[in-house]
Amino acid sequence: MSYSAWFQCIEGCEERYPLTEVIYRCRRCSGLLDVVHDIEELRKRSPSAWMMLFDERYKRSSWPYGSSVWGKKEWVCPTVANENVVSMYEGGTNLFWAERFGREIGVEDLWVKQCGNSHTGSFKDLGMTVLVSMVKQMIAEGKPIRAVACASTGDTSAALAAYCAAAGIQAVVFLPKDKVSHAQLIQPIANGALVLSLDTDFDGCMEIVQKVCAEEDIYLANSINSLRIEGQKTISIEIVQQFDWEIPDVIVIPGGNLGNVTAVGKGFLLMKELGLINALPRIVCAQAQRANPLYLSYLNGFREYHPVRAQPTLASAIQIGNPVSINKAIRILQTFHGIVEQASEDELANAAAQADRAGLFNCPHTGVALAVLLKLLERKEIRRTDRVVVISTANGLKFPEFKIDYHEGRLRDIHPRYANLPVELSPDLDAVKRVLDQKVG
Ligand SMILES: *Cc1c(COP(=O)(O)O)cnc(C)c1O
Ligand SMILES: [Zn+2]
Repeated sequence: MSYSAWFQCIEGCEERYPLTEVIYRCRRCSGLLDVVHDIEELRKRSPSAWMMLFDERYKRSSWPYGSSVWGKKEWVCPTVANENVVSMYEGGTNLFWAERFGREIGVEDLWVKQCGNSHTGSFKDLGMTVLVSMVKQMIAEGKPIRAVACASTGDTSAALAAYCAAAGIQAVVFLPKDKVSHAQLIQPIANGALVLSLDTDFDGCMEIVQKVCAEEDIYLANSINSLRIEGQKTISIEIVQQFDWEIPDVIVIPGGNLGNVTAVGKGFLLMKELGLINALPRIVCAQAQRANPLYLSYLNGFREYHPVRAQPTLASAIQIGNPVSINKAIRILQTFHGIVEQASEDELANAAAQADRAGLFNCPHTGVALAVLLKLLERKEIRRTDRVVVISTANGLKFPEFKIDYHEGRLRDIHPRYANLPVELSPDLDAVKRVLDQKVG
Protein backbone atom coordinates (compact mmCIF):
# COMPACT_ATOMS: atom_id res chain seq x y z
CA MET A 1 0.00 0.00 0.00
CA SER A 2 1.25 3.50 -0.72
CA TYR A 3 -0.46 5.76 1.76
CA SER A 4 0.38 9.42 1.46
CA ALA A 5 -0.37 12.77 3.07
CA TRP A 6 0.62 16.36 2.42
CA PHE A 7 0.07 19.93 3.68
CA GLN A 8 -2.80 21.66 1.93
CA CYS A 9 -4.10 25.23 2.21
CA ILE A 10 -7.51 25.35 3.93
CA GLU A 11 -8.59 28.55 2.18
CA GLY A 12 -9.82 26.97 -1.00
CA CYS A 13 -6.69 27.71 -3.02
CA GLU A 14 -5.72 24.07 -2.35
CA GLU A 15 -2.01 24.64 -2.80
CA ARG A 16 -0.09 21.52 -1.67
CA TYR A 17 3.31 21.09 0.00
CA PRO A 18 5.21 17.98 1.13
CA LEU A 19 5.21 17.22 4.88
CA THR A 20 9.01 17.51 4.88
CA GLU A 21 8.86 21.13 3.80
CA VAL A 22 9.45 23.83 6.43
CA ILE A 23 6.20 25.72 5.97
CA TYR A 24 3.34 26.84 8.26
CA ARG A 25 1.17 28.99 6.03
CA CYS A 26 0.22 28.88 2.36
CA ARG A 27 2.79 30.75 0.23
CA ARG A 28 0.10 31.88 -2.15
CA CYS A 29 -2.57 33.22 0.22
CA SER A 30 -1.01 32.81 3.70
CA GLY A 31 -3.96 30.62 4.79
CA LEU A 32 -3.53 27.92 7.44
CA LEU A 33 -2.39 24.52 6.26
CA ASP A 34 -4.02 21.21 7.01
CA VAL A 35 -2.60 17.72 6.64
CA VAL A 36 -4.65 15.98 3.97
CA HIS A 37 -4.56 12.22 3.36
CA ASP A 38 -5.02 10.21 0.19
CA ILE A 39 -8.52 9.02 1.09
CA GLU A 40 -8.89 6.76 -1.95
CA GLU A 41 -5.91 4.75 -0.80
CA LEU A 42 -7.27 4.53 2.77
CA ARG A 43 -10.67 3.39 1.45
CA LYS A 44 -9.10 0.29 -0.04
CA ARG A 45 -9.24 -1.24 3.43
CA SER A 46 -12.74 -1.91 4.77
CA PRO A 47 -14.00 -0.26 7.97
CA SER A 48 -13.96 -3.55 9.85
CA ALA A 49 -10.43 -4.30 8.63
CA TRP A 50 -9.26 -0.93 9.99
CA MET A 51 -10.93 -1.59 13.33
CA MET A 52 -9.33 -5.01 13.53
CA LEU A 53 -5.90 -3.63 12.65
CA PHE A 54 -6.14 -0.86 15.25
CA ASP A 55 -7.38 -3.29 17.90
CA GLU A 56 -4.58 -5.77 17.16
CA ARG A 57 -1.93 -3.12 17.65
CA TYR A 58 -3.48 -1.35 20.64
CA LYS A 59 -1.01 -1.22 23.56
CA ARG A 60 1.10 -4.10 22.24
CA SER A 61 4.84 -4.03 21.79
CA SER A 62 5.51 -4.01 18.05
CA TRP A 63 7.40 -0.75 17.35
CA PRO A 64 6.03 1.84 16.96
CA TYR A 65 2.44 0.57 16.74
CA GLY A 66 1.85 -0.02 20.45
CA SER A 67 1.60 3.73 20.84
CA SER A 68 -2.04 4.54 20.15
CA VAL A 69 -0.93 7.41 17.91
CA TRP A 70 1.36 5.24 15.80
CA GLY A 71 -1.06 2.34 15.96
CA LYS A 72 -3.06 4.55 13.58
CA LYS A 73 0.00 5.56 11.58
CA GLU A 74 -1.63 5.20 8.15
CA TRP A 75 -4.22 7.81 9.21
CA VAL A 76 -1.77 10.06 11.02
CA CYS A 77 1.55 10.34 9.25
CA PRO A 78 2.21 7.52 6.81
CA THR A 79 5.27 9.17 5.27
CA VAL A 80 7.58 8.97 8.27
CA ALA A 81 9.93 5.96 8.37
CA ASN A 82 9.54 3.76 11.46
CA GLU A 83 13.19 4.26 12.41
CA ASN A 84 12.60 8.01 12.61
CA VAL A 85 9.58 7.76 14.87
CA VAL A 86 10.23 9.36 18.28
CA SER A 87 7.65 7.76 20.54
CA MET A 88 7.05 7.41 24.25
CA TYR A 89 4.05 5.10 23.89
CA GLU A 90 1.47 7.85 23.58
CA GLY A 91 -2.26 7.48 24.01
CA GLY A 92 -4.05 4.44 25.34
CA THR A 93 -5.11 6.62 28.26
CA ASN A 94 -7.81 5.65 30.68
CA LEU A 95 -11.39 6.46 29.82
CA PHE A 96 -12.44 7.07 33.42
CA TRP A 97 -15.99 5.99 34.16
CA ALA A 98 -17.17 8.95 36.25
CA GLU A 99 -20.15 7.03 37.52
CA ARG A 100 -20.40 8.57 40.97
CA PHE A 101 -19.79 12.14 39.86
CA GLY A 102 -22.22 11.66 36.98
CA ARG A 103 -24.94 10.47 39.33
CA GLU A 104 -24.34 13.47 41.55
CA ILE A 105 -24.75 15.98 38.73
CA GLY A 106 -27.51 14.19 36.85
CA VAL A 107 -25.94 12.52 33.85
CA GLU A 108 -26.12 8.76 33.59
CA ASP A 109 -23.27 7.93 31.27
CA LEU A 110 -20.30 10.20 32.00
CA TRP A 111 -16.69 9.49 31.08
CA VAL A 112 -13.50 11.50 31.52
CA LYS A 113 -10.78 10.86 28.97
CA GLN A 114 -7.58 11.10 30.97
CA CYS A 115 -5.25 12.55 28.34
CA GLY A 116 -2.98 13.81 31.13
CA ASN A 117 -1.95 10.26 32.07
CA SER A 118 0.86 10.56 29.65
CA HIS A 119 4.64 10.90 29.50
CA THR A 120 4.80 14.65 30.13
CA GLY A 121 1.37 14.86 31.75
CA SER A 122 -0.78 16.42 29.04
CA PHE A 123 -2.38 15.61 25.68
CA LYS A 124 0.39 17.63 24.01
CA ASP A 125 2.43 14.41 23.78
CA LEU A 126 0.00 13.08 21.17
CA GLY A 127 0.87 15.78 18.67
CA MET A 128 4.48 16.28 19.61
CA THR A 129 5.44 12.70 18.82
CA VAL A 130 4.34 13.29 15.22
CA LEU A 131 6.04 16.66 14.86
CA VAL A 132 9.38 15.62 16.35
CA SER A 133 9.37 12.37 14.34
CA MET A 134 8.95 14.41 11.18
CA VAL A 135 11.81 16.69 12.24
CA LYS A 136 14.01 13.66 12.82
CA GLN A 137 13.16 12.47 9.33
CA MET A 138 13.93 15.88 7.82
CA ILE A 139 17.31 15.97 9.58
CA ALA A 140 18.03 12.43 8.36
CA GLU A 141 17.28 13.63 4.84
CA GLY A 142 19.83 16.43 5.23
CA LYS A 143 17.63 19.44 6.05
CA PRO A 144 19.72 21.96 8.06
CA ILE A 145 17.50 22.25 11.17
CA ARG A 146 19.38 23.67 14.19
CA ALA A 147 16.58 23.52 16.72
CA VAL A 148 12.84 23.19 17.26
CA ALA A 149 11.08 26.05 19.04
CA CYS A 150 7.70 26.82 20.56
CA ALA A 151 5.85 29.39 22.59
CA SER A 152 3.94 27.73 25.37
CA THR A 153 1.58 28.10 28.27
CA GLY A 154 3.55 25.26 29.85
CA ASP A 155 2.51 21.90 28.46
CA THR A 156 3.66 22.30 24.87
CA SER A 157 7.16 23.18 26.03
CA ALA A 158 7.26 20.18 28.37
CA ALA A 159 6.29 17.85 25.53
CA LEU A 160 8.63 19.46 23.01
CA ALA A 161 11.57 19.32 25.41
CA ALA A 162 11.02 15.65 26.26
CA TYR A 163 10.63 14.44 22.67
CA CYS A 164 13.60 16.50 21.49
CA ALA A 165 15.73 15.19 24.34
CA ALA A 166 14.83 11.61 23.43
CA ALA A 167 15.80 12.29 19.81
CA GLY A 168 18.94 14.35 20.50
CA ILE A 169 17.53 17.51 18.93
CA GLN A 170 17.87 20.96 20.54
CA ALA A 171 14.61 22.46 21.85
CA VAL A 172 14.06 26.18 22.47
CA VAL A 173 11.00 27.16 24.51
CA PHE A 174 9.49 30.61 25.00
CA LEU A 175 7.50 30.89 28.22
CA PRO A 176 5.56 33.84 29.63
CA LYS A 177 7.40 34.77 32.83
CA ASP A 178 5.59 33.71 36.04
CA LYS A 179 2.58 32.40 34.13
CA VAL A 180 3.26 28.66 34.17
CA SER A 181 3.25 26.28 37.13
CA HIS A 182 6.50 25.20 38.80
CA ALA A 183 6.01 21.67 37.56
CA GLN A 184 5.58 22.91 34.01
CA LEU A 185 8.67 25.13 34.24
CA ILE A 186 10.94 22.44 35.59
CA GLN A 187 10.10 19.93 32.85
CA PRO A 188 11.90 21.66 29.92
CA ILE A 189 14.71 22.69 32.27
CA ALA A 190 15.26 19.06 33.27
CA ASN A 191 15.13 17.92 29.67
CA GLY A 192 17.87 20.33 28.61
CA ALA A 193 15.85 22.76 26.53
CA LEU A 194 16.96 26.35 26.14
CA VAL A 195 14.28 28.03 28.26
CA LEU A 196 13.56 31.67 27.46
CA SER A 197 11.35 33.33 30.05
CA LEU A 198 9.81 36.45 28.50
CA ASP A 199 8.19 39.27 30.40
CA THR A 200 4.94 39.06 28.40
CA ASP A 201 1.96 36.74 27.98
CA PHE A 202 1.50 33.72 25.70
CA ASP A 203 0.35 35.83 22.77
CA GLY A 204 3.51 37.94 23.14
CA CYS A 205 5.70 34.82 23.13
CA MET A 206 3.86 33.53 20.08
CA GLU A 207 4.60 36.66 18.09
CA ILE A 208 8.32 36.42 18.82
CA VAL A 209 8.69 32.71 18.15
CA GLN A 210 6.99 33.06 14.78
CA LYS A 211 9.55 35.68 13.81
CA VAL A 212 12.43 33.54 15.06
CA CYS A 213 11.12 30.64 13.00
CA ALA A 214 10.77 32.70 9.85
CA GLU A 215 14.34 31.55 9.19
CA GLU A 216 14.17 27.97 7.94
CA ASP A 217 16.72 26.49 10.31
CA ILE A 218 14.59 26.76 13.46
CA TYR A 219 11.46 24.67 13.15
CA LEU A 220 8.22 25.91 14.72
CA ALA A 221 6.41 23.43 16.97
CA ASN A 222 3.26 25.40 17.80
CA SER A 223 -0.09 24.01 16.76
CA ILE A 224 -0.18 26.30 13.74
CA ASN A 225 1.99 23.41 12.57
CA SER A 226 -0.73 20.97 11.61
CA LEU A 227 1.44 17.89 12.10
CA ARG A 228 0.47 18.15 15.76
CA ILE A 229 -3.22 18.11 14.93
CA GLU A 230 -2.71 14.76 13.20
CA GLY A 231 -1.47 13.14 16.39
CA GLN A 232 -4.10 14.77 18.55
CA LYS A 233 -6.93 13.61 16.32
CA THR A 234 -6.29 10.09 17.59
CA ILE A 235 -8.07 11.20 20.80
CA SER A 236 -11.42 10.78 19.11
CA ILE A 237 -10.45 7.59 17.31
CA GLU A 238 -9.24 6.11 20.57
CA ILE A 239 -12.41 7.10 22.45
CA VAL A 240 -14.57 5.39 19.85
CA GLN A 241 -12.27 2.38 19.93
CA GLN A 242 -12.59 2.24 23.73
CA PHE A 243 -16.39 2.18 23.33
CA ASP A 244 -16.03 -0.80 20.98
CA TRP A 245 -16.43 1.48 17.96
CA GLU A 246 -19.51 3.29 19.15
CA ILE A 247 -19.69 7.07 19.25
CA PRO A 248 -20.58 9.09 22.33
CA ASP A 249 -23.28 11.77 22.11
CA VAL A 250 -21.31 14.74 23.41
CA ILE A 251 -17.63 15.63 23.78
CA VAL A 252 -16.61 18.54 26.02
CA ILE A 253 -13.13 20.04 25.40
CA PRO A 254 -11.40 22.99 27.04
CA GLY A 255 -10.10 25.33 24.33
CA GLY A 256 -7.30 27.89 24.21
CA ASN A 257 -5.37 28.00 20.95
CA LEU A 258 -8.15 25.74 19.60
CA GLY A 259 -5.89 23.12 18.06
CA ASN A 260 -7.37 20.34 20.14
CA VAL A 261 -11.01 21.01 19.35
CA THR A 262 -10.00 21.06 15.70
CA ALA A 263 -8.10 17.80 16.10
CA VAL A 264 -10.89 15.96 17.89
CA GLY A 265 -13.34 17.04 15.19
CA LYS A 266 -10.95 15.97 12.46
CA GLY A 267 -10.63 12.48 13.94
CA PHE A 268 -14.39 11.97 13.90
CA LEU A 269 -14.68 13.27 10.33
CA LEU A 270 -12.05 10.83 9.11
CA MET A 271 -13.75 7.90 10.83
CA LYS A 272 -17.02 8.88 9.19
CA GLU A 273 -15.44 9.34 5.79
CA LEU A 274 -13.92 5.88 5.99
CA GLY A 275 -17.15 4.29 7.21
CA LEU A 276 -16.13 3.34 10.76
CA ILE A 277 -18.93 5.46 12.20
CA ASN A 278 -22.12 6.78 10.64
CA ALA A 279 -22.94 9.81 12.79
CA LEU A 280 -21.09 12.57 14.63
CA PRO A 281 -21.23 13.57 18.28
CA ARG A 282 -21.87 17.12 19.42
CA ILE A 283 -18.71 19.01 20.27
CA VAL A 284 -18.69 21.50 23.13
CA CYS A 285 -15.75 23.88 23.46
CA ALA A 286 -15.27 25.21 27.00
CA GLN A 287 -13.43 28.50 27.49
CA ALA A 288 -12.27 30.38 30.55
CA GLN A 289 -14.36 33.52 30.90
CA ARG A 290 -11.11 35.50 31.16
CA ALA A 291 -9.87 34.25 27.80
CA ASN A 292 -13.00 33.80 25.73
CA PRO A 293 -12.66 35.08 22.15
CA LEU A 294 -14.32 31.98 20.68
CA TYR A 295 -17.24 32.23 23.10
CA LEU A 296 -17.82 35.87 22.15
CA SER A 297 -17.81 34.93 18.49
CA TYR A 298 -20.23 32.03 19.14
CA LEU A 299 -22.67 34.48 20.73
CA ASN A 300 -23.03 36.22 17.38
CA GLY A 301 -23.27 33.00 15.39
CA PHE A 302 -19.58 33.21 14.40
CA ARG A 303 -20.39 36.16 12.13
CA GLU A 304 -17.72 38.22 13.82
CA TYR A 305 -14.51 37.33 15.55
CA HIS A 306 -12.17 39.61 17.47
CA PRO A 307 -9.07 38.62 19.42
CA VAL A 308 -9.18 39.68 23.08
CA ARG A 309 -6.51 40.47 25.62
CA ALA A 310 -6.56 37.37 27.81
CA GLN A 311 -6.83 38.09 31.53
CA PRO A 312 -5.01 36.04 34.16
CA THR A 313 -6.87 32.80 34.82
CA LEU A 314 -6.24 29.71 36.92
CA ALA A 315 -6.67 27.82 33.66
CA SER A 316 -3.27 29.14 32.58
CA ALA A 317 -2.84 26.76 29.65
CA ILE A 318 -5.82 28.33 27.93
CA GLN A 319 -5.02 31.95 28.76
CA ILE A 320 -4.92 32.83 25.07
CA GLY A 321 -6.62 35.83 23.48
CA ASN A 322 -5.70 35.32 19.85
CA PRO A 323 -6.04 31.60 19.06
CA VAL A 324 -4.11 30.51 16.00
CA SER A 325 -6.56 27.79 14.95
CA ILE A 326 -9.65 29.99 15.17
CA ASN A 327 -10.78 29.46 11.57
CA LYS A 328 -10.34 25.71 11.70
CA ALA A 329 -12.13 25.50 15.04
CA ILE A 330 -15.14 27.50 13.86
CA ARG A 331 -15.53 25.20 10.87
CA ILE A 332 -15.40 22.16 13.12
CA LEU A 333 -17.97 23.61 15.51
CA GLN A 334 -20.31 24.45 12.66
CA THR A 335 -20.00 20.90 11.32
CA PHE A 336 -20.57 19.31 14.74
CA HIS A 337 -23.58 21.34 15.81
CA GLY A 338 -21.16 22.81 18.30
CA ILE A 339 -21.69 24.72 21.51
CA VAL A 340 -19.26 27.16 23.13
CA GLU A 341 -19.69 28.03 26.80
CA GLN A 342 -17.50 29.74 29.35
CA ALA A 343 -16.64 29.26 33.02
CA SER A 344 -15.68 31.82 35.64
CA GLU A 345 -12.78 31.29 38.03
CA ASP A 346 -15.16 30.33 40.82
CA GLU A 347 -17.02 27.89 38.59
CA LEU A 348 -13.91 26.17 37.23
CA ALA A 349 -12.24 25.79 40.61
CA ASN A 350 -15.32 24.40 42.32
CA ALA A 351 -16.20 22.07 39.46
CA ALA A 352 -12.67 20.64 39.51
CA ALA A 353 -12.85 20.17 43.27
CA GLN A 354 -16.32 18.66 43.21
CA ALA A 355 -15.24 16.04 40.69
CA ASP A 356 -12.07 15.39 42.71
CA ARG A 357 -14.40 14.36 45.52
CA ALA A 358 -15.58 11.53 43.29
CA GLY A 359 -12.09 10.18 42.67
CA LEU A 360 -10.65 12.40 39.96
CA PHE A 361 -7.73 14.83 40.38
CA ASN A 362 -8.46 17.58 37.92
CA CYS A 363 -6.30 20.26 36.41
CA PRO A 364 -7.96 23.71 36.15
CA HIS A 365 -8.60 23.31 32.40
CA THR A 366 -10.51 20.13 33.00
CA GLY A 367 -12.30 22.19 35.65
CA VAL A 368 -13.41 24.58 32.89
CA ALA A 369 -14.83 21.67 30.90
CA LEU A 370 -16.60 20.23 33.95
CA ALA A 371 -18.08 23.61 34.89
CA VAL A 372 -19.41 24.00 31.37
CA LEU A 373 -20.89 20.51 31.53
CA LEU A 374 -22.75 21.51 34.71
CA LYS A 375 -24.18 24.60 33.00
CA LEU A 376 -25.31 22.72 29.91
CA LEU A 377 -26.97 20.03 32.01
CA GLU A 378 -28.81 22.70 33.92
CA ARG A 379 -29.99 24.30 30.69
CA LYS A 380 -30.84 20.83 29.32
CA GLU A 381 -28.64 21.40 26.29
CA ILE A 382 -27.02 18.15 27.38
CA ARG A 383 -29.60 15.51 28.35
CA ARG A 384 -29.27 13.24 31.34
CA THR A 385 -29.32 10.15 29.11
CA ASP A 386 -26.53 11.39 26.82
CA ARG A 387 -23.24 9.55 26.77
CA VAL A 388 -20.85 12.38 27.56
CA VAL A 389 -17.05 12.37 27.37
CA VAL A 390 -15.10 15.19 29.01
CA ILE A 391 -11.57 15.59 27.69
CA SER A 392 -9.20 16.01 30.63
CA THR A 393 -6.26 17.76 29.06
CA ALA A 394 -3.57 17.56 31.75
CA ASN A 395 -2.67 15.71 34.89
CA GLY A 396 -3.76 17.51 38.06
CA LEU A 397 -0.36 16.76 39.57
CA LYS A 398 1.11 19.43 37.30
CA PHE A 399 -0.91 22.08 39.16
CA PRO A 400 -0.24 21.62 42.86
CA GLU A 401 -0.36 25.38 43.57
CA PHE A 402 -3.91 25.50 42.21
CA LYS A 403 -4.99 22.62 44.42
CA ILE A 404 -3.30 23.77 47.60
CA ASP A 405 -4.42 27.39 47.26
CA TYR A 406 -7.97 26.21 46.63
CA HIS A 407 -8.17 24.07 49.75
CA GLU A 408 -6.46 26.71 51.86
CA GLY A 409 -8.92 29.33 50.62
CA ARG A 410 -6.20 31.51 49.15
CA LEU A 411 -7.60 31.95 45.64
CA ARG A 412 -9.02 35.36 44.94
CA ASP A 413 -12.71 35.62 43.91
CA ILE A 414 -13.28 31.98 44.81
CA HIS A 415 -15.45 30.46 47.51
CA PRO A 416 -14.02 26.98 47.96
CA ARG A 417 -17.19 24.97 48.50
CA TYR A 418 -15.27 21.69 48.71
CA ALA A 419 -12.27 22.83 50.75
CA ASN A 420 -10.81 20.03 52.82
CA LEU A 421 -8.05 20.96 55.27
CA PRO A 422 -5.86 18.67 57.31
CA VAL A 423 -6.75 18.57 61.01
CA GLU A 424 -3.72 19.36 63.15
CA LEU A 425 -3.64 17.71 66.55
CA SER A 426 -1.32 16.20 69.10
CA PRO A 427 -0.36 12.50 68.86
CA ASP A 428 -2.95 11.57 71.44
CA LEU A 429 -5.42 8.70 71.02
CA ASP A 430 -8.33 10.43 72.72
CA ALA A 431 -7.87 13.56 70.65
CA VAL A 432 -7.81 11.42 67.49
CA LYS A 433 -10.96 9.59 68.55
CA ARG A 434 -12.76 12.84 69.22
CA VAL A 435 -11.98 14.05 65.71
CA LEU A 436 -13.08 10.75 64.21
CA ASP A 437 -16.40 10.94 66.03
CA GLN A 438 -16.89 14.49 64.83
CA LYS A 439 -15.84 14.08 61.22
CA VAL A 440 -16.48 10.49 60.25
CA GLY A 441 -19.74 9.89 62.05
C1 LIG B 1 -2.82 23.18 25.44
C2 LIG B 1 -3.79 22.92 26.50
C3 LIG B 1 -5.15 23.21 26.35
C4 LIG B 1 -5.71 23.91 25.17
O1 LIG B 1 -5.58 23.24 23.95
P1 LIG B 1 -5.67 24.10 22.60
O2 LIG B 1 -5.36 23.14 21.54
O3 LIG B 1 -4.64 25.18 22.75
O4 LIG B 1 -7.05 24.65 22.55
C5 LIG B 1 -6.02 22.89 27.37
N1 LIG B 1 -5.57 22.32 28.51
C6 LIG B 1 -4.27 22.03 28.68
C7 LIG B 1 -3.86 21.41 29.96
C8 LIG B 1 -3.34 22.31 27.69
O5 LIG B 1 -2.05 22.04 27.89
ZN1 LIG C 1 -3.62 29.25 -0.05
